[in-house]
Amino acid sequence: MSKFILVLDEGTTSTRAMLFDGAGQVHAIAQQDITQHYPQAGWVEHDAAEIWEKTLACARDVVVAAGGSEQIACIGITNQRETVVAWDKDTGEPLSRAIVWQDRRTADFCEELRNEGHEPQVQVQTGLLLDPYFSGTKMRWMLDNAKAVKTAADAGTLAFGTIESWLVFKLTGGANGGVHITDASNASRTLLMALDGAGFDHGLCELFGVPHHALPQVVDNAGTIATTELSLFDAAIPISGLAGDQQSATIGQACLAHGETKATYGTGAFVLTNKGTEIPRSGNRLLGTVLMQLGGERTYAIEGSVFVAGSLIQWLRDSLGIVGVASETEALARSIEDTGGVTIVPALAGLGAPHWRADARGVISGLSFASGKAELARAALEAMAHQTHDLAEAFAADGAAWDSLKIDGGMSANDWMAQDLANMLGLTVERPGFVETTALGTAMLAAVGAGLHSDLATAAEAMRGELTRFEPDMDQSVRDARLARWRKALAAA
Ligand code: ADP
Repeated sequence: MSKFILVLDEGTTSTRAMLFDGAGQVHAIAQQDITQHYPQAGWVEHDAAEIWEKTLACARDVVVAAGGSEQIACIGITNQRETVVAWDKDTGEPLSRAIVWQDRRTADFCEELRNEGHEPQVQVQTGLLLDPYFSGTKMRWMLDNAKAVKTAADAGTLAFGTIESWLVFKLTGGANGGVHITDASNASRTLLMALDGAGFDHGLCELFGVPHHALPQVVDNAGTIATTELSLFDAAIPISGLAGDQQSATIGQACLAHGETKATYGTGAFVLTNKGTEIPRSGNRLLGTVLMQLGGERTYAIEGSVFVAGSLIQWLRDSLGIVGVASETEALARSIEDTGGVTIVPALAGLGAPHWRADARGVISGLSFASGKAELARAALEAMAHQTHDLAEAFAADGAAWDSLKIDGGMSANDWMAQDLANMLGLTVERPGFVETTALGTAMLAAVGAGLHSDLATAAEAMRGELTRFEPDMDQSVRDARLARWRKALAAA
């Protein structure tokens, strides 16, 4: 019996192929960097042909490492979300550069739609806000500005898709019968699908000026989704799991029940809470999103992100020279009893959820002659718990109170920060030994989709491995004093 799950993890800066077994162990990894194109300030583009070629090369390397395609039971794909590819169904080739999620070129169009009063309705239907981040306005930009895209739209040969959609099309034969599908988690980031709509919404397509016929069919996140074209790997391998990266990480963290929450602390922090089958509605400008769709049945999540997390530690390292490497912050934080009143508000790039103040700027308050490196390093780490605490309050106000917090990302390796999170939230914080939760979540979906595990709970049990737990251990008075100090500093930001 074939024993491996091949996961294709197409991120913003690199594409990877990883070989998992049914117990969650990784047996091989291949990785290649993706070229970033910055044609103008605020614009970010990728070459979709390069993404395909490098993804295929990585996949083939890993298939060889597995001992041949007969060893591969199934394929799962996870991807950078919101990035848009336009291709021609007849030639199977891209029609323009892909517009990447970070790209801000459609800010004016979003502003226009907001001024026309469309945001409240769009938010109710899609769970999203009118922001260039999401795919819909990027598609419209291509139609207006890339001649080949417009010509293909008129000829009825245009295909739009996010990265997983593009890769599935190529993996299933491209111009020779490739299928045009997208999974519900990726579809929920386009502004073109209602949270409770089975497919893309005609009214939303009209609002954003995107032809419905150019959009893929929306499918489940796991199951018999498609099969690879024979010549690629000398075998027809089932593609049985698809998910956007943050949704995948949420599944990889086994946030499978209502209220279960994961927070990824990398450059910024991404938090998702499972909302079960209830459609999320936010009064706090958090996002509602599809966590997954299985057997046509949707599970939803509420999502919030803060812009500055690990990048604050990078700033301490690179601009202030307080530490040589990020991990030194831990020993510095432990070397003192408290920060002596020093508080950092990491609004270096404005404030994200739940404050949404693009104009806010960073603050360091409470400095005295006693403040040194250790106080600043500890205050920087404390800021992570403070920001997360504000998110927790917003999530609770939106009916998505957290039961515990499952953390991952590069910064989660910091034990002092993990304990401080538990203390300030008053919740158990869990950290998996294996922090590649994005790839793991898709391996779990693909395993379930191919019948290697009966359901996600069983897959999580078999594949997740060891956890480290941090239990809250702080007096309420200390917590209250910290929060009061934070709120005062926040007001100054
Ligand atoms: P991304 O995926 O966004 O590139 P990673 O998940 O790789 O980020 O996390 C890297 C970030 O985490 C960096 O900003 C770094 O400063 C921070 N970081 C890494 N290790 C630690 C640590 N032990 N303590 C504090 N911050 C850390």
